[in-house]
Amino acid sequence: MTENFSPQRWANTLTLLLNGVHGTSAERFPVNVPELAKEFTRNRFPDDPVAMVKGASLPGFDGALYKAPPGKKGWGIIYNDGIASKGRINFTIAHEFGHYLVHRLQFPDGIECAPQDMMRWDSEYRQMEAQANEFAASLLMPLDDFRRQIDPKHKPTLDDLGECAVRYGVSLVAATLRWLQYTERRAVLVVSRDGYILWARSSPTALRTGAYFKTAGRPPIPVPDSSLAAQPGLLTNSKGQLEHDADAWFAEPCEEIALASDQYDFTISLLHLERFIRPSRFEDPTEDEDSFDVMTRRMDGNGPR
Ligand SMILES: [Zn+2]
Repeated sequence: MTENFSPQRWANTLTLLLNGVHGTSAERFPVNVPELAKEFTRNRFPDDPVAMVKGASLPGFDGALYKAPPGKKGWGIIYNDGIASKGRINFTIAHEFGHYLVHRLQFPDGIECAPQDMMRWDSEYRQMEAQANEFAASLLMPLDDFRRQIDPKHKPTLDDLGECAVRYGVSLVAATLRWLQYTERRAVLVVSRDGYILWARSSPTALRTGAYFKTAGRPPIPVPDSSLAAQPGLLTNSKGQLEHDADAWFAEPCEEIALASDQYDFTISLLHLERFIRPSRFEDPTEDEDSFDVMTRRMDGNGPR
């Protein structure tokens, strides 16, 4: 049996299953993806299951989905056992499980995934990787649960997001990217290295109001000189917080909370912006006068004499 479900639909199916098994008990998170992948596929696709999930030496790749050798049935999910972060490993396994569910028929020989494949969630990047990431994020961090941890209106610190990363067994970057998908606030995550933006991601309201950095297919954008990202010396224990005036990161003030990751050799800057206030049309006196003039002219012409 083959099912052409979208990544989102697969994640929803599995989320409902896990909610049914664990309810709201402490065992619900983090999701044990290796166990889930093996058990679910053994029942759903008995002739073609995920037969194995294990770590191995995978130079240059974070994870892979391989067809079992001739004579054996099913698939193996392999993660790079040189990865030090457990959160990154969990996300990688979920990402490969997503490839299994959505792409295995298209790629009967298997799929190998580089580190950057796990980091780019936007569809501007390779669509197949974006789909596997969408599946992994939805499975590991269901939005209804995440909203209960951090209200869509709240302004989290990196520590708040770090607690969610622990809850869901993912990296801080993955938890922050997920929060950016549902927050009502204006916020931008910037990941930089050596003073240049590697990539950035905005919340929907930040994007709509022009607060974003386009990095794909453009020359590298330097981080502002006044930013924490440009001044690692200002960080204490690799962390820091700074209020910026207009014209630092954007043409408006913002708050930067930054974390330098030695492990990955990059700096994460979470930029919190003010709520967007739409300029009122009544603030424009000429517009007001014009409409008043139009109204009086109309009354002069049509009103009772
Ligand atoms: Zn991939």
